[in-house]
Amino acid sequence: MLEFFYRNPGFAYFLMIAAVIFSYAMQALVNSTFKKYSKVNSKSGVPANVIARQILDSYGLYGVTVVHINGMLSDHYDPRKNVVALSDSTFFSSSVAAVGVAAHEVGHAVQHNTGYIPIKIRSLFVPVAQFGSKSWILFFFIGMFFGMPFLLEIGVILFALVVLFQLLTLPVEFNASRRALNVIDSQFLLERDEMEGARKTLSAAAMTYIAGLMVAVTQLLRLLIIANGRRRD
Ligand SMILES: [Zn+2]
Repeated sequence: MLEFFYRNPGFAYFLMIAAVIFSYAMQALVNSTFKKYSKVNSKSGVPANVIARQILDSYGLYGVTVVHINGMLSDHYDPRKNVVALSDSTFFSSSVAAVGVAAHEVGHAVQHNTGYIPIKIRSLFVPVAQFGSKSWILFFFIGMFFGMPFLLEIGVILFALVVLFQLLTLPVEFNASRRALNVIDSQFLLERDEMEGARKTLSAAAMTYIAGLMVAVTQLLRLLIIANGRRRD
């Protein structure tokens, strides 16, 4: 399979450009979907931070705190501090999008606190991925500049670790969204017709992770082609 790309490097470049365009499109989709459903207020009118607290309590996770952070769509769960951080557009909002996002971040807190294996593996992998993303370029370009294939290959391996990390992220993200929708449904946090907005918001967000992985995979392919070309020189 790699041989095919080595012989047709143009095709690999085409795939990479297509992946980058797809990634921009998905980013635009998540922004427009969030914008649309952040204008749809839930009938209950309960703000997302209260809902996040309610879900955490229902799991007995009293030790996880819900905090407000600045920014737009910067919502996340911090496993080191055991904190669910909700941004301006989520924390005070009672929109169906905000409820979906808050429940998703709580989903990560539940994963972390209930021994969900994929998030543990992903967490262990964080330092490796951080090292890889910072240093691959250094090895790769020094290897290329001085004609040292060995360094070039280390650069490719380091980048591959970053790609692997992105791959590990996918099941964790999908699972958090599934948990979010299940809990919204079972605890009647949104009405049936409001669920659709939350679901679409989370699906759009999931697509950005898939697009990011596609960009990284095609980039890895491009690095492999360059490294292979140098090896043959
Ligand atoms: Zn997430």
